[in-house]
Amino acid sequence: MASRTKWTVTLRCYICREKFTLRHLGLERVFIVPMMTPCPHCFTNLQDPERSQLPLNRLHHIDDLREEQIDSVYRKIQGDFMWHFCETCSRWPTSDFLQIEMRPQRGELCGECSAKQLRMKTH
Ligand SMILES: [Zn+2]
Ligand SMILES: [Zn+2]
Repeated sequence: MASRTKWTVTLRCYICREKFTLRHLGLERVFIVPMMTPCPHCFTNLQDPERSQLPLNRLHHIDDLREEQIDSVYRKIQGDFMWHFCETCSRWPTSDFLQIEMRPQRGELCGECSAKQLRMKTH
């Protein structure tokens, strides 16, 4: 059975030493992204021809690695704008819904779900 656990990894750039964070990674990707992901802080610098000789075959340092809560499934009813992410929410969509596995960029998050999640975390 495949694990649904996702990981948040904080990387420290090997060039500029700034940190950046990547979320919702499967474990098999956690050790690939330090090689594959350009540092957002350096990204503009890399456009600079004088700095195009930077070594690109090096790894970002993994500064922090943490397991995410399995609360990263978001559902909303088709045509609605409210996202739910707590299965015990009284309005958790069970049919005719759209589901994503990352924090939605648009729309609103359900207040009841937020309250339930907060209670779970402070328990
Ligand atoms: Zn950098
Ligand atoms: Zn809800």
